[in-house]
Amino acid sequence: MSLQNLPPLREALAEHGLLARKSFGQHFLLDLNITRKIARLAGPLEGQTVIEVGPGPGGLTRALLEAGAQVIAVEMDPRFIELLGELAQAAEGRLTIVEGDALKVDEAALTGGAPAHLVSNLPYNVGTPLLIKWLTGPFRPTSMTLMFQKEVADRIAAPVGGDAYGRLAVISQAICEAKVVMDLPPRAFTPPPKVSSAVVRLDPLPNPPAPALVKALENVTGAAFGQRRKMLRSSLKVLGGEALCVKAGIDPGARAETVDVAGFLRLAAALAS
Ligand code: SAM
Repeated sequence: MSLQNLPPLREALAEHGLLARKSFGQHFLLDLNITRKIARLAGPLEGQTVIEVGPGPGGLTRALLEAGAQVIAVEMDPRFIELLGELAQAAEGRLTIVEGDALKVDEAALTGGAPAHLVSNLPYNVGTPLLIKWLTGPFRPTSMTLMFQKEVADRIAAPVGGDAYGRLAVISQAICEAKVVMDLPPRAFTPPPKVSSAVVRLDPLPNPPAPALVKALENVTGAAFGQRRKMLRSSLKVLGGEALCVKAGIDPGARAETVDVAGFLRLAAALAS
């Protein structure tokens, strides 16, 4: 069987007697028009390596393969491995299936050190820890095109000053350019989740901060947004308070949500020096 004449995803699921499980955060995209659009948002992918977390029944995987990518798919639910095996056959060597927990896999070992994009409809229960792993860990993806709950997507791409702006926005935007590129209502998924979803595209900045600076940024944003209504001289007290702010050129009377990403990077640099 070739990629073009695979059975519809609904049929493939029924044939294997597969129902979504809540514990794995399973909300499937069974409309290939939608998965092809997500693949286009990640593209061009011809000849590129893509890591996909949670292929499930393989709707997004099919679209990535159609776009010409070499796909490494990490799936934790063993029930899907057989169904994905049929897709791997149709893909003629361009799909590698790895059974395991994406939080624990070593991405560089999966790609043999080759650069790779990350494209996934993420399980919502582990979406944020996975993003933090890819932003701050040793493996640096070429780009990330990831589906999250809409509320999380908005927090990743939030501009300074609003309620959505917080630790996730600062860390994401210190390392990548982050943009919400697609919104999807609950009805796009099977079964529908309770909330809307959105795809975020993250592209690494040309000069991302060094690991030690990222560590300091995690500390300083943790303290500042942990008490976001307080002034920085007070919320950052254990890290140096007023003196740290002055060293970084930041008003100690300011609140965390008014300090932009560049300001937080200066606070992190002052902390790390
Ligand atoms: N990509 C499919 C789609 O779009 O229809 C499924 C997306 S569903 C939201 C999330 C998928 O991630 C499920 O297949 C689930 O089993 C898998 N999953 C959940 N936790 C995981 C983990 N820690 N590591 C790898 N896969 C995981």
